[in-house]
Amino acid sequence: MKLLSPFSTSIPRILLTKAVVGFITLVCLSLILATAWQMSLSRSERFTNAELTVYNIVRAVEQHTQDTFKHADNTLRHLVEHIEHDGVSDNDQKSRLTKLMAQNVANTEGIQEIFIYNEKGNWVANSFTKDFKARNISDSAYFIYHQEHKDDSVYIGSITESRTTGDMIIPVSRRINAADGSFAGIALATIPVTYFQSFFERLDVDDKGVILLALNNGDLLARRPTLKELKTTNLSKGEIFSVYLPRNDSGTAVIKSIVDGVERVYAYRRLSKTPIVAAAGVSFEHVLAPWWTYAYRSLAMVSIIVAALAFLGVLLYKQIQQLVIAESQLNSAKKELEIIAHTDSLTRLANRRCLDQTIQKEWGKACRNQSDVALILLDIDWFKQFNDCYGHLQGDNCLKQVASIMEVNVKRPMDLPARFGGEEFVVLLPETNLEGALRVAENIRSSVINANIEHSGSPLKKVTISSGVVAVNTPDSDGYTAALAEADRLLYYAKNKGRNCVEGAFIQVHFAAREFEETLSKHTAV
Ligand code: GH3
Ligand code: MG
Ligand code: MG
Repeated sequence: MKLLSPFSTSIPRILLTKAVVGFITLVCLSLILATAWQMSLSRSERFTNAELTVYNIVRAVEQHTQDTFKHADNTLRHLVEHIEHDGVSDNDQKSRLTKLMAQNVANTEGIQEIFIYNEKGNWVANSFTKDFKARNISDSAYFIYHQEHKDDSVYIGSITESRTTGDMIIPVSRRINAADGSFAGIALATIPVTYFQSFFERLDVDDKGVILLALNNGDLLARRPTLKELKTTNLSKGEIFSVYLPRNDSGTAVIKSIVDGVERVYAYRRLSKTPIVAAAGVSFEHVLAPWWTYAYRSLAMVSIIVAALAFLGVLLYKQIQQLVIAESQLNSAKKELEIIAHTDSLTRLANRRCLDQTIQKEWGKACRNQSDVALILLDIDWFKQFNDCYGHLQGDNCLKQVASIMEVNVKRPMDLPARFGGEEFVVLLPETNLEGALRVAENIRSSVINANIEHSGSPLKKVTISSGVVAVNTPDSDGYTAALAEADRLLYYAKNKGRNCVEGAFIQVHFAAREFEETLSKHTAV
């Protein structure tokens, strides 16, 4: 029979460890994900704000540019009508025209000069008279344009150097027709690039930001910050002109500038009624600078929290591991104690305490199941003499030998061989009838004598044993004391008969009367 050992397992601890590790990992992951999500939200918010800013700047530039060119165009239209009606052939007409043009320049914001040229490109009149060296402009793009185009549309040209002041100017011109509709010359107004650039300076973009105006063909008209090569810079290969404008007349985009290589958030817009594109951009660096500060702070904070959690997790994990080890050591100690508490230290058989507990249990079981249960009480013959002849140590060895012989002869798992006290032993045989119990007792007796353990104090000169065997059917749950007493009586009987023999009896218990009735024959085996 196996001794009872209700040891707890370490499975809950393993689950606890997993739960702790899982929880800490989950918290860390949630924290990291939440921060990453928050950072991504704030990044896109920065971009949205930057897009709104540059979009508003572009709208302001559009308004200002359109107003400027509209005023220049109105002035030119008025002058052309005047010339076509009155002519400029005599000096009076010329001086009136000069005055008119000077008034127009003074009254129209943005216009630096106004000129009138005849059909050959020769100077006819202009808005000021001092220090002016007349030149022929028949090779200029705006003159050629009007020469070749009969329509009365305004022409806005690429940046050119003023032939009178040397300034960078944007030419705005209109064709003058003769009475028969033939080409009679042009009226030209010049707008200095600096006029737009000084307006750009009033708008709010960062140091690396940009505001620009360009013709539809990509020729740059004005830029903040300005460029040395302003006049010759063409943006048609840049992404705004090559990718975005063909798709949409206005929009926003993140682009690396082909002029200075700076990556910016741009807004661009094709201005209605003029062949001009306005664009503004704030640098990526400027847009993301506060975000990076926020991101570094958040990262630092999350890293500290995650590190602290990981540290706590490791501490907790170590504590749990120590607990697991301590628990397993405790369990081993408990197991050992349990074994010690139930084992006879000399023979390693079950001790008296274990026997008492098991007998009670088995008796109760046999009572419930109405089954048989048997007991063998065995005693070594002439053992006092054995001790006297060979000493107590040899006596102990003899007890051990007899115990091993008992163990060898008790085969079923529920059978329990135990030391009853001194040189007396008990074998408890659950679900065993008298016949079976006698067979076991007889086997032990014969095995002991056949072991040939020398005993000069015994008449047979060998160690022998005597047994009292009792089998009970449907016993009373607490009737084992009576059964033991009966086995003792039978053992005494066997001793009196001459020893080295087995005496057995069957007891039938009547439940109703709760009294023993001894039946059947006594059995002797030698
Ligand atoms: P019987 O044949 O009638 O049983 O005679 P016996 O001498 O065996 O019986 P008795 O009860 O007179 O003697 C039992 C002896 O067993 C007494 C005691 O010295 C010895 N004994 C009891 N326990 C131990 C033990 O643990 N070790 C040793 N060596 N001897 C023990
Ligand atoms: Mg005895
Ligand atoms: Mg004895």
